[in-house]
Amino acid sequence: MPEAAMSHSTPQAGEMPEDVLISVRRLKKYFPIQAGWMKKTVGHIKAIDDVSLDIRKGETFGLVGESGSGKSTVARLMLRAYDLTDGQILFRGGNGEVIDLSDLTDRQMRTMRREMQMIFQDPYSSLNPRMTLLQLVGEPMLIHGVGSQGEIRDRVAELLQVVGLRPEYINRYPHAFSGGQRQRIGIARALALNPSFIAADEAVSALDVSVAAQNINLMQDLQEKFGLTYLFITHDLGMVEHISDRVGVMYLGRLMETAPTDQLFAKPLHPYTEALMAAVPQPDPRGNRTRKRVPLKGEIANAANPPKGCTFHPRCPYAQPVCGTDEPALRAVAGGRQVRCHFAEELTLTGVTT
Ligand code: SF4
Repeated sequence: MPEAAMSHSTPQAGEMPEDVLISVRRLKKYFPIQAGWMKKTVGHIKAIDDVSLDIRKGETFGLVGESGSGKSTVARLMLRAYDLTDGQILFRGGNGEVIDLSDLTDRQMRTMRREMQMIFQDPYSSLNPRMTLLQLVGEPMLIHGVGSQGEIRDRVAELLQVVGLRPEYINRYPHAFSGGQRQRIGIARALALNPSFIAADEAVSALDVSVAAQNINLMQDLQEKFGLTYLFITHDLGMVEHISDRVGVMYLGRLMETAPTDQLFAKPLHPYTEALMAAVPQPDPRGNRTRKRVPLKGEIANAANPPKGCTFHPRCPYAQPVCGTDEPALRAVAGGRQVRCHFAEELTLTGVTT
């Protein structure tokens, strides 16, 4: 990896630019593959391999990629739902202090979770059907010992209003609500402890398009109102283009490209990004017809046995012999972008707005 790129993508421990809320550095998560009755470790699934990214205060960072690319694992590692195999996660707490989450014990991490929350994909299974809205939304406050019973009730009523639900619903159970409303209950719960960072994992993927759009608008309003920072994980490129300030593209546990959203969609620098964009039908800018969808060639490789060299090379239409032997590094390029391709400067790739 060139020196300049190295220093851009992996700054030293403890250093974090003032405008960054959370920074992951050289993050790795390997899951052991066990075999036989002795459960001997015979290999590892490299679910996340050397991911570095910064998310700035108040921005929405979109993480895209096919199923199996590792994007949800990155979010779970950031919130320490999984232990890291290696790497570092730096987070700027409410008092401005930078905390290395990778070193925290479970107990210390529980305190940090007041500032970091997650919204899950499935609004049906993520809410306990036996709990009322008061219990569901108030539970984080109860767990963290925040407020008396009366204060929790008032706060839950306020949060229901904030997410567009009537406070009178406070004693109802989730089954009385639609999928979109249940997702709003999940958002209210995530907001209960005034977090600064929310990771939304395919948060609106299970919803109808119009309901999803309403909830996305709600999330954008809440971001402005409460100064929230979002990590928005989705396989939906249209959604990510709409909501994100910057985007990271993941493939087989690695970041292939990061860029400001408009630049990424106008001019992708990585062949995988181009292929993802081509796989979504786009309106033809010259008329009302839809530009043809070009399905992505082949399947995502096995993370237990990734291809040598560039992990994307078996599917890449631009692959050269070196791509099968030498793994490209994620390196900084002009415009505050990063790319992991030997030939990024030589290729002229097609975006969706060209
Ligand atoms: Fe394609 Fe080679 Fe670039 Fe990988 S390094 S994306 S195989 S051109």
